[in-house]
Parts: sequence; structure tokens; C-alpha cells
Amino acid sequence: MLKNYITYLKFINAKLTRFFEKQKPYIFCKKGCGLCCKNAQFPYSKIEFDYLMNGFYKLDLDIQKRIFGNIKNIIVAKDSYKDEKFKYDCPFLIDNVCSVYEYRGIVCRAFGLMNIGEGGGKEVPFCCFKGLNYSNIMDGINISAPKYRSLGISEPPLAFNVSYDFLTDSAFEKLFDFKFGDKKPMIEWFSMQNQAIVNKDIKREIQNF
Ligand code: SF4
Ligand code: SF4
Repeated sequence: MLKNYITYLKFINAKLTRFFEKQKPYIFCKKGCGLCCKNAQFPYSKIEFDYLMNGFYKLDLDIQKRIFGNIKNIIVAKDSYKDEKFKYDCPFLIDNVCSVYEYRGIVCRAFGLMNIGEGGGKEVPFCCFKGLNYSNIMDGINISAPKYRSLGISEPPLAFNVSYDFLTDSAFEKLFDFKFGDKKPMIEWFSMQNQAIVNKDIKREIQNF
């Protein structure tokens, strides 16, 4: 099944690469930014999580240990947190760089583009308001025609259907013959309540860390 998921990933990646290329004048993503890897929930399906852990096991032991430490700290913080929307920095972000980049999840791959919202409107990523993606063509919360025209571009920026729900829709399961499985915030795959689905080695390491 993982083989078919990888085929799906290649398909999605090719699309997203084209989308990012089309939006190049407005994209400020670069290695070491890492802002979108912090203070969020990071939805992950079971198959995304399994693939992520494939990447984890390929890392040097010292990096694995740092990630275990991050996971443990997040679980401790989560256990004393009552709000259901617990947010955290991704435990795989090491020195502000994704340590499992080739194995990252769907939300990580699509984030940064302008999305088509539920009502059909254009939604910019939050980093726009931190001076990053699309910030060079916005005037407050509106797209500024004078600003994109000043870049020599005659049409407004494109928005794409790149929501997590869409990219993990069951239509892709049928098309590529795999199942996403349950979806939940990444940290919940590690949390003690969900030990049964976490690889035994990881469970032991987290408990003994
Ligand atoms: S999407 Fe935004 S926050 Fe994330 S790497 Fe790109 S510029 Fe940085
Ligand atoms: S898996 Fe990598 S890209 Fe995704 S949130 Fe974590 S550090 Fe960022």
C-alpha cells in the first residue's frame, strides 16, 4: 500500500511544484524559514505517519534522540493542556530545518500557496501577514492590483484547491489504490492514548527517554 501512496505523492508533488512555479513572484519559502512548522496541529493520516516514520528511521541516531526528546516534551505539555486545539512546534523541525523533508506529510507539501476557500474566495497563508508569501501584493487583507502590476504581472495571483481535506479525499484513494486511514494531529499518533498504533521501538524509546 505504501508503494501506491508513494505513486500518489509523486502525482501531488508534480502538481504542487507547478503551482509553486506559477506563483514564484509571490513565494518567499526558503530552507531555514520553518515558520509554518511551528505552533500548529499538523493533520496526519495513518499512511502519512507511517511514511514519515520511514524517514525518521533513516536519520542518524543523535537526530532521532533529539526528535524523541521533542516528542516527549510535547506530550508532557499536551497532557496538562485542556483546550482541544493544542498547538506545538513540529518535533521533526531540527535547527529550523525539516529533518524528514522527503517524507513529510501532505499539509507540509501544500502549505504556502494561495488556497481556494470554502466560499470560493482566495485565502493567503498566515505567513503573508509576517511579510512572507504573497505579502508583496497585498494591501491589508486585499490583493492589490497596483502591486502585482508593478511586478509586471497583468493578472491577479491564482488560488488553488490545496486544502488538506481535498488533497486527502477518498477519490485519490480510489485512483491510486491505497487508504489514508485515520486522520489526527501528528502528536496524537505518538501520544500514550494511541500507543497501539505506534511502532513498539518508538514506544519503548519514548517511555525510556
Ligand atoms: S510557507 Fe511561509 S512560513 Fe512556510 S516556509 Fe514558506 S514562507 Fe516560510
Ligand atoms: S514534517 Fe517537516 S515540513 Fe512538516 S511540519 Fe514537521 S518539520 Fe515542517
